[in-house]
Parts: sequence; structure tokens; C-alpha cells
Amino acid sequence: MSVGSVPADLATLYVGVLLLVGAAMGSFLNVVIYRAPLGKSLLYPPSSCPRCGVRIRARDNIPILGWLLLGGRCRACRRPISLRYPAVELVAALVWAAEGWRLAGLDRGFWPDVLTGLAELAFLSALIVTFLVDWDHLIILDEISLGGLAGSLATAALVPALHQADSPAAFESSHPLMTAWLSGAPAWGRALAASLAGALTGLTLSLSIYFLGNIAFRRQIEAARREDPEVDSALGLGDVKLMAFFGAFLGWRAVPFIFLAASLFGAFAGSAMKMLSGQTGGQKGWAGLANRWRTGGSVIPFGPFLAAGAIIAFFWDWRIF
Ligand SMILES: [Zn+2]
Repeated sequence: MSVGSVPADLATLYVGVLLLVGAAMGSFLNVVIYRAPLGKSLLYPPSSCPRCGVRIRARDNIPILGWLLLGGRCRACRRPISLRYPAVELVAALVWAAEGWRLAGLDRGFWPDVLTGLAELAFLSALIVTFLVDWDHLIILDEISLGGLAGSLATAALVPALHQADSPAAFESSHPLMTAWLSGAPAWGRALAASLAGALTGLTLSLSIYFLGNIAFRRQIEAARREDPEVDSALGLGDVKLMAFFGAFLGWRAVPFIFLAASLFGAFAGSAMKMLSGQTGGQKGWAGLANRWRTGGSVIPFGPFLAAGAIIAFFWDWRIF
């Protein structure tokens, strides 16, 4: 039996396993998101309540369920535990399950599924961490961007299926120019070249936007600096490194799409933030809205929107184009 083109028994296995493992991974990602920007160890000490410091018991630490059974409160001090912890666990579970569904649909065989799957699950987890760390701290960790870039290049060479370099026909349709240049190259060489081309596309496009943005938005950047003295450019250098990583993992064609999607999300979120944080100045109607727009804050991180664009680019079926 199959669901569409997805074999049902394989899909049940992959989705079921990854839903559970994803929830547990979400629990670990919570630790990473909280501790990594502070330079704290990810493994020690075990989690404790951020308010009273009492260590969280193993049975209360069960992803999602632990929080629900406690009614969202610490067992020791009864003060609320942020909804964000179970939310991250749920998102991780759903994203991992979605990857299970995708892998079952590709059905490339057990070992290719396991190898590409592990790399892709690591990538998706890095996106979740990037989203929330940049949201909280306005930074993108080099461990994620540069570490991800190095990891993507290495993984491309080790698992050529990631860039479809194991199948000449699929590779030719996604990399027409490169196929001509690299005729006769081994699969790992073609995959590494595809990954490098993606990294260079991400680097070149984001550096162009970095320099052009600084010229085009000089007045807005000065205004933003009065709000937050650390703002010095329309796009941060962290975003540039992040785009090299995304290009290296997803391939060059994903890069323009990610920028387009992130700019749209960012424009919506930035406008919403201006309207929510601005003051009406006592005016009603349109005049009040105009005052809100004028006085509202506009410093928002771009990394979360790049990560959101990357997750869509990942699950999008590029063969549509
Ligand atoms: Zn407590």
C-alpha cells in the first residue's frame, strides 16, 4: 500500500520514529539555544528550573508531556515554565517527522536514506537553533554558520546523494553548466563542486546585498543605531556566513529563493513590530497609526527569516521549476 508516491509502511516507520526522536532532540535544542550563546557547557550540569534552581527530575523532563503534566509549572517552586520549551520540542518533532515523510517518498534505499537523513536532520536542527538564538540575542553563532559550512562541504564529499551527484541525470538537470565541466569526475567530486558553488553563491549574493544595503539604507541604519548602538549595517556579517552555509548545504539555486522569502517575512515582521511598539501620541485613526509607524522600533534580526526561508527551500520540490 502506498500514500501517493510514498510507501506506507516505510512512511509509518520513518515518521513514527522521527516524531519521537525529534521531540527528544527538541529538548536538547532547548539546552543549546539557552546555553550556547552564553558559552556554557551543553552537557553539564543537568537542567534545572531557571527560577528556583532545583534540578528537573527525569520524569518531568519527558518532552512536551512533562510540561503538560506539570501544568506548565515547576514542581518545586510552582512558578510558570515558559511555553517555549514544549513549543520547541513540538516544532522539532514535527520538522523531523516531515523529514521522515520526505525520505520515505524518495525511497532511495536504507543506507542512502540513513546517511542523507542524518545530515539533513542535523541541518534542520541547526535552523531551529539559528532562528531562536538570533531572535533572542541578535547573533548568529560561528559554530553554526562556519561549522555548518565546513560540515556541509565534508558531507557533500562523503554523501554525494545530498547533491544528487550519485545520479547523473538528476545532477545534470540541477547543475547543467557544471555537468559539462565535470564530465568524468567521480560522484564525490561533483557533489563537492556543487556544494562549493552553493557556498560561493551564498557568499557573493549576501556580500553584494551587504554593501548595496549599506549605501541604499544609510539613513535607516543611522536611525536604527540610535535605537541599538550595535547596529552597523542592513545585513550583518553573521548573515553572510550563514548564507554561505545554506548555499553549501542546499545548492546554489536555493540562495536567491531564501533571500526573497526572508525579505518578505522580514518586511512583514518589521512592519508588525513598528506598529506594536510605536506610540499613537494620543491620536486616533490614521494619524495615530502614522505616529505608531514613525515612533516604532525597527531593529529585528534577519537570521530567523533566512532560517525560515531555508526550511521552505529544503522541503520545496525544486523539480517544479
Ligand atoms: Zn522552580
